[in-house]
Amino acid sequence: MKRIASVLLIVVLIAAATAFVFRKSIAMRMMERVVAGNLQVSLLDEVEDGLHVVLCGAGSPLPDVERSGPCVAVIAGGKLYVVDSGAGSSRVLARARLPQGEIERVLLTHFHSDHIDGLGELMLQRWAGGGRSEPVPVHGPTGVERVVAGFNQAYGQDFVYRVAHHGEDTVPPSGAGGDARPFSVPADGGVTQVFRDGDLEVSAFAVDHAPVSPAVGYRFDYKGRSVLISGDTAKSSNLQAAADGVDLLVHEALSPELVAVMTRAAQTAGIKRIEKITVDIVDYHASPIEAAEIARDAAVDHLLFYHIVPPLPLAPLEQVFLEGVDEVYPGPVTLGRDGTMIRLPSGSTEIEVSELL
Ligand SMILES: [Zn+2]
Ligand SMILES: [Zn+2]
Repeated sequence: MKRIASVLLIVVLIAAATAFVFRKSIAMRMMERVVAGNLQVSLLDEVEDGLHVVLCGAGSPLPDVERSGPCVAVIAGGKLYVVDSGAGSSRVLARARLPQGEIERVLLTHFHSDHIDGLGELMLQRWAGGGRSEPVPVHGPTGVERVVAGFNQAYGQDFVYRVAHHGEDTVPPSGAGGDARPFSVPADGGVTQVFRDGDLEVSAFAVDHAPVSPAVGYRFDYKGRSVLISGDTAKSSNLQAAADGVDLLVHEALSPELVAVMTRAAQTAGIKRIEKITVDIVDYHASPIEAAEIARDAAVDHLLFYHIVPPLPLAPLEQVFLEGVDEVYPGPVTLGRDGTMIRLPSGSTEIEVSELL
């Protein structure tokens, strides 16, 4: 018995030593396989017909290793749409195997920096990665023209370098950057259609993010399935009306209890500016309980939290964040992180949650 054990030990040691000696070539071979896989495999080809959501950024302006800046990818009938593009979101899309060259349209909810600071990278990836000859349409309430013009100007020199380096056939100059598509938001509430693409209808409605105005949320309807994305908002009756009976409500939330910890820390450290900011932000976001009230009163089938404030670096803090939510809203709740996917296949009432990353 002892002898067998020592032979086994020797075999294991030899295998480990061999792996150590050849570690570079093993790693190179693994990389070759991963790179080839990433080029060939698109999530868009794998999902069934339906309306699907992937969080390409579940966080806020505050750094959170599990949550990049706000970004919601919507797949409808195999086509890819992106709502907001916060910092890091372009990289999450890549890791989730959502090819940015395939992005049909981008939609912005409002122009707070955390919702647009990944837009330059996203537009570049769509153009250079996809070889597109038309700039990406960027829909948003009035003001989106300034945002898109600013990015186009800031990236103007980069566009020239890349065309000079790779040639017009690889990166057609006409496809660089974005094409702003502003719409006006109904002042008296209600919903306005933004566009139709085949069976997909996308509409917008005003939310309450004062003093930020305009600020909207979006509703996606595709073959009887529906998703509503809140953007940034305090508890909003206009949003609730637009969310009536949707399959999936993707709602932002800020935990006043956890943000109060930050306020107290700033007080203790004597940093008045941070103390003021952490107090100010509470009034223009919804608490998890308020989002749950919206989900209950709009009778939605599933609630997905995103734009999570503050960061939740420890698992028990997720319980604090969600405390009391299940007493308000009886349906299923998902606390989003980068790569959270919710699938709504057409022709069914199924709602399937998975984590891609
Ligand atoms: Zn905002
Ligand atoms: Zn925000």
